[in-house]
Formats: sequence, C-alpha cells, structure tokens
Amino acid sequence: MPLYTTDALVLRTYQLGEADRIVVFLTRDRGKRRGVANGARRPRSRFGGGLEPLTLTRLAYFERERRDLVRLSYVEPSCSPLMAGDGNALGYVEYFAELLDECVPEGDPNPALFRLGAAVVEALLTSVPIARLARYFEYWVLRLQGVYPSLAMCQQCGGRADEGGRVDPVAGGFSCRGCTDNRGIFLSGEAVRFLWRAAATPPGRLSDVELSEGAARELEHAHRGLIAAHLEKELRSARVLKAMER
Ligand SMILES: [Zn+2]
Repeated sequence: MPLYTTDALVLRTYQLGEADRIVVFLTRDRGKRRGVANGARRPRSRFGGGLEPLTLTRLAYFERERRDLVRLSYVEPSCSPLMAGDGNALGYVEYFAELLDECVPEGDPNPALFRLGAAVVEALLTSVPIARLARYFEYWVLRLQGVYPSLAMCQQCGGRADEGGRVDPVAGGFSCRGCTDNRGIFLSGEAVRFLWRAAATPPGRLSDVELSEGAARELEHAHRGLIAAHLEKELRSARVLKAMER
C-alpha cells in the first residue's frame, strides 16, 4: 500500500460505525479524496481536533487497491478556523467547506482551488471583513469552475461593465444597463469594481478593498443565483447562514 503525504484542507466528516469517521479532504495536487480515520470518534484519538471542516493540515494516507476509500495515517493541523476570534467568521466555515465540496469532483487535481481555500482559511484568522471574504471566495470558486461570466465588458455591445448591469445565471453572460432586458441579477458599478479589484488582491488584504453593504448584498444575491444554477440546488449551509443573519 503506497503512503502519500500532502497538504490538504478538510471539507467534512461523516460518522462510520462506533468509533471511526469518513473524512472528505481536498489535497494540494491529487484532488478531493475520501478516507477512513480509524478511531477518530474515540476520546484522545490521534486525530484530535484536526478533522474539523476547513482545517488546513499536513496529512498522510494509504491508497488501497481497487478501493475508493483511502486510509488516513495521520493529520497534523497547521491552521484551524477554530482559532478565529470572530464568531461571525465561524458561521461561514461550514458554508465555505460545503461550497468547495460540492464544486470539486473526486480525484480531479485542482491546485488553484486548493491554494484559494488555504489562503481563505488563513484570511479567516485576520480582521478581514467576513462579507468581503465570502463574496471574494464565491467569485473565485465560480471563476475557477469556468462559471463566472466575464465582467471585462458588456457581452452584447462591448461597452463598459463598471457602470453596472446584469448577470444572467441561467444563460450566462453580463450585459450593461443599455443592453439588458431586465433578465438576470443586477450588479451596480460599485459591485463590479469590487470584483475587478478583488481579482488582483490576496484575500488577507481585502480590508483595503472597499465594499458597501448595498453592493455586498447585490453580489451575495448574484452569487447565490450562479451557485444554484451551477449546482442545480441551494447549499444547505447557505440556508443556515441566511437564517442566522436574520
Ligand atoms: Zn451593452
């Protein structure tokens, strides 16, 4: 049985029998994997708190021939969202993990997505406003999936995008105010400009990129529509988050 050692991001766990857990994790260069952590539900398990969603960890696992489930040997957490002082940020952990889990097919290497996830977990521990981080994360996850419409210009007339317009989650594309026929979800010029700037900013520096409450709501609404159209469902944790915010 070959042993692999890699950096990985824990996405979720399930109970397995009396004492074990199944762990879904995103590796740096081997895509998403599913593995058994023997004894993880026992007190004083060697996996400790390293299996919480969105824990960034060094881990080792055995590949088993003709089996989809690998076997975890050890995890060594390097960064845990549980270290975030901001309770607000903690509410987003399940959501970020579920979004990644749902978007990533098993065994399909995607180092860019791993780097994004790792950088966002590190940013969770800073004072970056969580709404900006969430919109940034959704934008990049969708972009790396090839789902986000280009906001470089209006797709119909080639005119400027930074005066606002509409994204169409179903048909795709972005149309300026002059061309839109009111289908799709409105984004103001401010929302578009935030994404332009955010695209070139590491997540830990998002405090420098202004985003008003109104523009953040527009982006939240647009991203929810794009995610639902892409995954053909609404994320469970997004509904929980929405209920928490009320
Ligand atoms: Zn146009």
